[in-house]
Amino acid sequence: MADPIEKSKVPERLARLKDLVYNLWWCWHPDARGLFKEIDRNLWRTTYHNPVLLLQESAARLNDLAQDEGFLSRYDSVIRLFDEYMADQYTWFARKYPQAKGHRIAYFSAEFGVHNSLRLYSGGLGILAADHCKTASDLGVPLTGVGFMYPQGYVQQRISVDGWQQNVYEAIDWNVSPIRPVVASSGKNFLMPFSLGPLNLQVAVWEIVVGRVHLYLMDTHVEGNSPQDWEITGRLYGGDRTMRLRQEILLGIGGVRLLRALGLPADHYHVNEGHSAFMFLELVREAVAKGQTFAAAARDVAGCSVFTTHTPVEAGHDVFSEGLVAEYFSKYWAELGLDQEQFMELGRVPGQAGWNMTALALKMAGQRNAVSRRHGIVSRKMWAKLWPDKKEDDVPIGHVTNGVHLTTWLQQDLGWNFYKRLGRDWPEKQDDPSVWTQVASIPDEELWDLHMRNKEMLFKLLRDRARDRWITRNAEASQILTQGALLDPQALTIGFARRFAGYKRATLILRDLARLQGLLLDHWKPIQLVFAGKSHPADDSGKVLIQQIYHLSKDPAFGGRIVFVEDYDMHVARYFVQGCDLWLNNPLAPLEACGTSGIKAAVNGVPSLSILDGWWEEGYNGANGWAIGEAGGRGSGDAADAADAEDIYQALEKKIVPLFYDRGTDGVPHGWIRVMKESIKTVAPCFCGNRMVKDYVKMFYGAEASPQMGGARTTAPETIKD
Ligand SMILES: *Cc1c(COP(=O)(O)O)cnc(C)c1O
Repeated sequence: MADPIEKSKVPERLARLKDLVYNLWWCWHPDARGLFKEIDRNLWRTTYHNPVLLLQESAARLNDLAQDEGFLSRYDSVIRLFDEYMADQYTWFARKYPQAKGHRIAYFSAEFGVHNSLRLYSGGLGILAADHCKTASDLGVPLTGVGFMYPQGYVQQRISVDGWQQNVYEAIDWNVSPIRPVVASSGKNFLMPFSLGPLNLQVAVWEIVVGRVHLYLMDTHVEGNSPQDWEITGRLYGGDRTMRLRQEILLGIGGVRLLRALGLPADHYHVNEGHSAFMFLELVREAVAKGQTFAAAARDVAGCSVFTTHTPVEAGHDVFSEGLVAEYFSKYWAELGLDQEQFMELGRVPGQAGWNMTALALKMAGQRNAVSRRHGIVSRKMWAKLWPDKKEDDVPIGHVTNGVHLTTWLQQDLGWNFYKRLGRDWPEKQDDPSVWTQVASIPDEELWDLHMRNKEMLFKLLRDRARDRWITRNAEASQILTQGALLDPQALTIGFARRFAGYKRATLILRDLARLQGLLLDHWKPIQLVFAGKSHPADDSGKVLIQQIYHLSKDPAFGGRIVFVEDYDMHVARYFVQGCDLWLNNPLAPLEACGTSGIKAAVNGVPSLSILDGWWEEGYNGANGWAIGEAGGRGSGDAADAADAEDIYQALEKKIVPLFYDRGTDGVPHGWIRVMKESIKTVAPCFCGNRMVKDYVKMFYGAEASPQMGGARTTAPETIKD
């Protein structure tokens, strides 16, 4: 396959732009993004920040820029930054674990949300995986990602006139995406044969470069495979149970074979959610093939692996019928040295039917963790049946609370401000709380000014998108209003954006419409609600929630102050978490494993109004936002919903609205800004990517025990608990 950028004829003087566009390092480095923007500001916007497409369409402009001294000096300095980053020998990992040079971690995930130009994620899980990779790159943690390339990506959302979500799939265009095929020494695209039971496939492999971290993504849309086999990696979370099982077989088992086929070393394995848990079996099979017993092999595999569970919601755990599993594994279990009964036992949960992927992972991994303190408690309870002789508190599942990759989510002018106020090395020291005490030194007016600009940028994005729909689709005027055309930059703006899964209770704040209407239409102190989020394409109950909101957003009785923004993705998410005033999160506790969007908002000075669940139960300190509900939840059902909704209304009426509108003679809400500052100061150091990835390295990645794989831990240390 010819390099698509070649066609664009980048002038020689700017040749390194070709390296830059294919390393997603640019997406968290404002200088690099600024350079792309300078090439063509409009094109940058209309391509949704896709530099591969930008370069292809900018040939003439690039010729001019190759003569432009100012541009050339900025280009040189970005390239210098990039080269320094890539060559850095003194990363955190290299300094802390000099003995672990050559140690490598393979990170398996069904989704990776690196940038919105690659729709390989559905929500929090994929974005967390990519934030993990970006952070690993920053810290020099030697990690390799393994996953899937989905030619059609995740569903795109269109809302019909009557408010119903339409599922749209659009093939990803390789030629304009920051991704490239892995090429074999023959010069042809690399292909890996894969067979297991009735599966017999050719697998193509794509590579995404994320700073120093490489992701290898498998793709079955290859000539010679049957159309049915194409479907295996066709769409994220599409297809029936059989398709799902095939996906997971390829992801876990194919993923290990891929590492071997490409000669990529791996000493430690991180399984991010149960989808890739078959990986454990393949590692054992390799060792058994070399003459080990199953028990000895399983012990070694446990010694070099960690499994992260991500949800306490039952439907979030894949269960397959044993009959279906047997269709694929009837030869494989003998290769593990097991009979059918012993094999099936690996996927069983006492008292439940079927083969459970999470159970498999929990049994095989040497280290297991949940993603927040509360989720740890909930997971130990949920899975205690796998350890019948242990007390619930002693179930060996610890926790590492999720963090977000700060420089991906922080609004860039705020980031520049931090260089000035917190010191030039704040990104490296982001997990040190003392650095953040300097947030106090940002003058209130300065922070407010930055925030108001972020808010204006959010509203501008919404207007631009509304206008685009008005022009390109046969939209009705009322549909345009639902997109935020009437939003008021002065009004308290509350953001609610996430997947529309039932337990997230998107419509909780609509419970008492008359009361809400009073808040929305208050003449002096109005609020406005901005919603966004996709429902799983097969989940009609989620679509009904979207429809309810959509109907209200069209209803003049709410004055255009309820908005539903179509097609939530990382691009929209950035503007939301940077530009709202308040972040609302009201899941049914304790079902939110962590929740990360509130963290993204908090570091931008957008405090949370959130149920005490997931990260907020750890993050809330009484002064950095508002808590509702009760730790551990109020149970489920109408009474619990009513009590939680009452908490929301009370917090808004009594505390939040009055504080937001309490302005000094300078028009600046000093009391509100105190909460904003407290939010940044307390959330950033504890819930940043560096804290999270360092936790994984210290506790789970076997770096201390290295020199090499042979020295990796073989006995699991005691459960990490608080
Ligand atoms: C951060 C993020 C999520 C996860 O949000 P939660 O609050 O954890 O549900 C989902 N989608 C997108 C696009 C995000 O950026």
